[in-house]
Amino acid sequence: MSMQSESKPRPKFDAEALRRKYREERDKRIRQDGNEQYFEIAGQYAHYLDDPYTPITPREPKRDHVTFAFIGGGFSGLVTGARLKEAGIESVRIIEKGGDFGGTWYWNRYPGAQCDTASMIYLPLLEETRHMPSEKYAHAPEILEQCYRIAQKFNLYQDALFHTIVTDLEWDEAHSRWIIRTNRGDEFTAQFLGMGTGPLHVPKLPGIAGIESFKGHSFHTSRWDYGYTGGDPSGALMEKLKDKRVAIIGTGATAVQCVPHLSRACKALYVCQRTPSSVDVRDNRAIDPDWFSEISTPGWQQRWLENFTANQSAGAGTDVDLVQDGWTDLSRRIRSKIFELPPEQRTPMGMLAAYEESDFEKMEEIRARAEQVVRDRETAEKLKAWYRQLCKRPCFHDEYLQAFNNPSTKLVDTDGKGVERITEKGVVVAGREYEVDCVIYASGFEVGTPFERRSGFDPKGRGGVRLSEYWANGMRTLHGCHVHSFPNLFIQQPTQGANLISNVPHNLTESGRTIAMIVKHAVAHGKSRVELDRGAEEAWVDLLLSGPGLMLGSQECTPGYYNNEGQDRGPQAKYYVGYPGGAAAYFKYLDKWRNTGRFEGLVFG
Ligand code: NDP
Repeated sequence: MSMQSESKPRPKFDAEALRRKYREERDKRIRQDGNEQYFEIAGQYAHYLDDPYTPITPREPKRDHVTFAFIGGGFSGLVTGARLKEAGIESVRIIEKGGDFGGTWYWNRYPGAQCDTASMIYLPLLEETRHMPSEKYAHAPEILEQCYRIAQKFNLYQDALFHTIVTDLEWDEAHSRWIIRTNRGDEFTAQFLGMGTGPLHVPKLPGIAGIESFKGHSFHTSRWDYGYTGGDPSGALMEKLKDKRVAIIGTGATAVQCVPHLSRACKALYVCQRTPSSVDVRDNRAIDPDWFSEISTPGWQQRWLENFTANQSAGAGTDVDLVQDGWTDLSRRIRSKIFELPPEQRTPMGMLAAYEESDFEKMEEIRARAEQVVRDRETAEKLKAWYRQLCKRPCFHDEYLQAFNNPSTKLVDTDGKGVERITEKGVVVAGREYEVDCVIYASGFEVGTPFERRSGFDPKGRGGVRLSEYWANGMRTLHGCHVHSFPNLFIQQPTQGANLISNVPHNLTESGRTIAMIVKHAVAHGKSRVELDRGAEEAWVDLLLSGPGLMLGSQECTPGYYNNEGQDRGPQAKYYVGYPGGAAAYFKYLDKWRNTGRFEGLVFG
């Protein structure tokens, strides 16, 4: 177990002054237009969505029947497909809008892209594919390779449809199956249907006046134009930028990873910042094959997954920390603060206060790091994040802050206001125009917009009810996966299940295993439909609502996609929670639930 957090002297701070500063910085950024401030990529902006990586191949529309259709070829589809194949379900069709498997990792090939949860637990099915990650935090090409490896090993290419967008899903009550229609003219049927479209797959553009008038080159980070920049996803120098002036808009987790590469390559780089990210130490390193062969005894990845999750879950009780990274450090700090409290102060209020104190300490350390690393004092000051660590995606990087010591890289801080205007020639901040040849939008992905807008479909279940109608007053499921009135439908995502955000693949692998067990059971018993009992759905939702409520997305945070850009999320938000006992307890519960073979709450007919 790392002693990192215990051995460092604790920073001193004035808690009230920090609270005040956090409030001031948040208030500066609150805007009435919330999610509406962004431009949807459609119409005149549609070309920003074009696939720069794979040409589209013409094909005949499908008119057949499969046992299982799954929407999304990212980690969700891959792990579910793999488990279904293991369970003997041969007819599995994955439908994917990209040109190959990979999901997020298909699209995000920007230079420096890397996982920020340790590879040993982030990369799915390492043991099954016998792959040793090369680094503690693998880079994007290796992650994409792992996706291809899974697809090949489990024969998922055979029936896959790429560059295909589902437009309509309809339950066919008479035949107990789903009808699937797509933008490629397909109309086929599937006995079972899975959806795993992920939370961050629709890029968005910042709603900056004049954006359409820019005459130079521009693209979104999730559609990186290596034809223009040179270089490649493995991080080779982008030699075509050596005489180019580039502005990057946004300083979230994506920008943090690609700015060091742009900084090395561009003649001039302007990093346009509205809110700084918190950037802690990354400490990446190669994985030693000798060490790996020692630890990779049968069942190793499951043990690592469970250990990480136990470290992330309150009360899961483990002293061992196999992963040892920023995430486990964070939870260890909070736990040790709570243990410092005398027993009579371990009340909910006492624990929240201990959490806040541990957060102040961590954030003071991170802010001090900006001062230590960045030579220009004014720039260092502007790179300091004034909010609690989990208000935004915490970042970890060892070259981002350093990039601002490069004379060609300039931080263009907008004091929370955002880029003022885009002109034919460049970007305007605080009345000053920065002329550039290229604008790169690191402006993120749609989150708070309606599910059906992001996915492009709205399943029509039994009796013609749409999922959006069924959930009009809030999400209702069992385990985040099954929905009453939507027979044979499985949703692959963490909410209302473990809700483990620090390592999403753990949610997905467990859910994939469960789905495969249910389908295998149905097929083995000659059942054509699996439906969630309404009472079981109600009971599950009641259980969820008895928990501590939302852990992320406080309105006190600086605005961002975690808190719906600071806007009230309405009464439905209370349903976006996980199992009250925490992620580790949920996985134990789920394992027991599926291993009984009764799948309580589901009705097989
Ligand atoms: P984000 O939504 O996190 O960041 C968008 C950025 O654009 C923010 O800095 C935002 O500022 C800025 N912005 C928006 N409008 C304007 C404007 N008008 N002027 C100036 N700046 C503006 O998107 P990312 O792509 O960085 O990250 C999305 C998510 O993807 C991450 O949170 C993470 O979950 C995931 N990710 C994961 C990685 C990993 O696991 N390794 C790597 C990269 C991404 P503001 O903050 O003020 O809104």
